[in-house]
Amino acid sequence: MDSAMISKIMKAKQYAAQRDRMEFQAFTVVFSGNHRDHTVTFDRGKWTCTCDFFAQRQICSHTMAMEKVLEGMIPVPAGSNGSASS
Ligand SMILES: [Zn+2]
Repeated sequence: MDSAMISKIMKAKQYAAQRDRMEFQAFTVVFSGNHRDHTVTFDRGKWTCTCDFFAQRQICSHTMAMEKVLEGMIPVPAGSNGSASS
């Protein structure tokens, strides 16, 4: 392997440990729930989920789980410290 590629691989390892360098803007995830699949989407700070609970509360276990998984890599809403209080 050439030295340029080796240095890129080294840098990638460092970057991979620095989550604050990455900020997801938008994505779609198919979430396998206990009963059925749900589609969770994130678009510039706004979550949506196809489950019934989300339709009522605008938050659900699926979006909360994704927030945990992506902690530090998604924009934090203004006035929030990043932790869900309920
Ligand atoms: Zn949901």
